[in-house]
Amino acid sequence: MAERANLNDPTAYQLALTDPEGWWSDWAKRLDWFEHWHKVLEWEKPYAKWFVGGKINACYNCVDRHVAAGKGDKVAWLAEGEPGDLRVFTYQDVLDEVQKVACAFASLGVQKGDRVCIYMGQGPELTLAMLACARIGAVHSVVFGGFSSDSLEERINDAGAKLIVTADGSWRNGKVVELKRIINEAIEKGCPTVNHVLVYERIGQPLAEGAAAYDRGTWHDGRDVWWHEVVGSTGTTYPCEPMDSEDLLFILYTSGSTGKPKGIMHTTGGYLTGTSATAHAIFDLKDEDIFWCTADCGWVTGHSYVVYGPMANGVTQVLYEGGPATPEKDRYWRIIERHKVSILYTAPTAIRTFMKWGDEYPQSCDLSSLRLLGSVGEPINPEAWMWYRDVIGSGRCPVVDTWWQTETGAIMITPLPGMTTTKPGSATRPFPGIYATIYDEEGQDLLEKHGLPVGGLLVLKRPWPSMLRGIWGDPDRYVKTYWSKFEDAYFAGDGAKMDEDGYFWLLGRVDDIMLVSGHNISTMEVESALVDHPAVAEAAVIGKAHDIKGQAISAFVILRAGNQPSPALEQEIKQHVAGKIGALARPDDLFVVGELPKTRSGKIMRRLLRDVAEGRALGDTTTLADPTVVRALREQYEDREG
Ligand code: ATP
Ligand code: MG
Repeated sequence: MAERANLNDPTAYQLALTDPEGWWSDWAKRLDWFEHWHKVLEWEKPYAKWFVGGKINACYNCVDRHVAAGKGDKVAWLAEGEPGDLRVFTYQDVLDEVQKVACAFASLGVQKGDRVCIYMGQGPELTLAMLACARIGAVHSVVFGGFSSDSLEERINDAGAKLIVTADGSWRNGKVVELKRIINEAIEKGCPTVNHVLVYERIGQPLAEGAAAYDRGTWHDGRDVWWHEVVGSTGTTYPCEPMDSEDLLFILYTSGSTGKPKGIMHTTGGYLTGTSATAHAIFDLKDEDIFWCTADCGWVTGHSYVVYGPMANGVTQVLYEGGPATPEKDRYWRIIERHKVSILYTAPTAIRTFMKWGDEYPQSCDLSSLRLLGSVGEPINPEAWMWYRDVIGSGRCPVVDTWWQTETGAIMITPLPGMTTTKPGSATRPFPGIYATIYDEEGQDLLEKHGLPVGGLLVLKRPWPSMLRGIWGDPDRYVKTYWSKFEDAYFAGDGAKMDEDGYFWLLGRVDDIMLVSGHNISTMEVESALVDHPAVAEAAVIGKAHDIKGQAISAFVILRAGNQPSPALEQEIKQHVAGKIGALARPDDLFVVGELPKTRSGKIMRRLLRDVAEGRALGDTTTLADPTVVRALREQYEDREG
């Protein structure tokens, strides 16, 4: 295994440390540039320019160059819809289609630099729309096709989008998400910059027998345009615009777990270098691989590891439109079996859900094609890590737990398969070329000061090619959020520990870390101890204001199928935590609940649980996947507290 991995030379770490610019330019040289850069890096903290003066096009690198190299017949996408429909696109097909889409965009007045909002289900048209923007030099702003009209309106107006690309609907969990109707609603709230809405007919009429009716939204002549009426009829060839390395490629709004969404800006050359390098090295992409990243393109993971990273490497991928339980809870495993997926990249929230559903689902499918497993989005607790490796990977596939953010653009801390000895629950080491360390509140580098092991605030000390270049429309917020807490480092907002081997253990957001009787306790550690109890499927922990201790620990848990809540079980679970971590971490309160409030990307919103526990009005709930969950939880909480 080790000798066959794409990146298998342990001296890479040292090499990248001593000559980061040389390291990154070697990766940049794997891309096709129209004009070579004249300077690798210009760094005026906190503003970075990478590959200065270089001219490049992201679509060209993801599509055209593979066709030019004779790989036109290679399958790019195995696109499976939720109802089971399958469409196969070769790289040649993608090249043909993306040019038609680019022509259609141009016919609707889109030019270089314009913003295009994309609001669709996960499928080939979403990806084509992103690549078509890149081809023209327009800036895409993808909004997850599940956000409400309020969230949508806020994002459309913040970006000043000229064109919206959507569909009549998309399939999710057996139902139609009424995308076009929701777009209408958003525009009615006032979106003055929008000239056109381009609508792909995904669902069509009449509907399949037995399917529930859905509302396609009123048609606005002049504004609304059918995809099939303009894509193909307005031209079939469109050249790739040579973009400056530092031209904007996209804006992506963070999910907003912590407050008002920020339009994170990513530029072209550096972003493509970071995503293509990490995809190649961490997922060890080979010509024969079938790669499946389950993230939707509405999140950064979909941008970096569905579109730009894998496609720049010319890999074959699965694109899946829908939910994991449709028609049955074995859907993911059926997809892996059907398409012989060799690399799977998914999120801990999904893994924990699959654990809750039971082993019989994966065990009824042939998963022998898998050779590598990845995790992203949250800290993965050791129990879920072991389950993922043993039940999904049969104990033979390396697991790469990858830490990164919308802001970092590409994976920052991760094992390298074939090189890193993993530890369950640790993201291990920074990718070569990334300099991560731990600071205290005063900005002292604890690693330098004390040596290993250390715990505190995770920072990145050197610029990296795929770093964010700013926040759209709010330059001050960029400096304030990321570069003002510490003078000489990017503050990620997350807490972490480094163990005696120098491995990183992510502890979650700093805002989520509790201070109990003067001790920092991470919500992540207590949650890990909770789900380690055999009756607990999922857990969320918060610190609730307490007169004496400062904060007291409240735990919200979901039980595994077959367990009933009882005072005895609650005591037993609390005791389990005390046994694992220490008496200090024993939760004061423990609530058995049916659901936890999560963002649409599946992350627990502890901020809202704190609001519930401290009896405050609920903060912003627009990014919640299901707002009824937190309301039900509040009622249950108040009943019990009396
Ligand atoms: P917002 O910034 O708007 O609140 P968000 O932080 O959830 O939203 P993302 O950029 O998608 O949006 O998520 C990045 C965060 O996810 C990281 O800062 C970290 O807290 C968490 N995270 C991602 N991957 C991992 C991982 N492998 N281990 C631990 N935490 C992770
Ligand atoms: Mg964040």
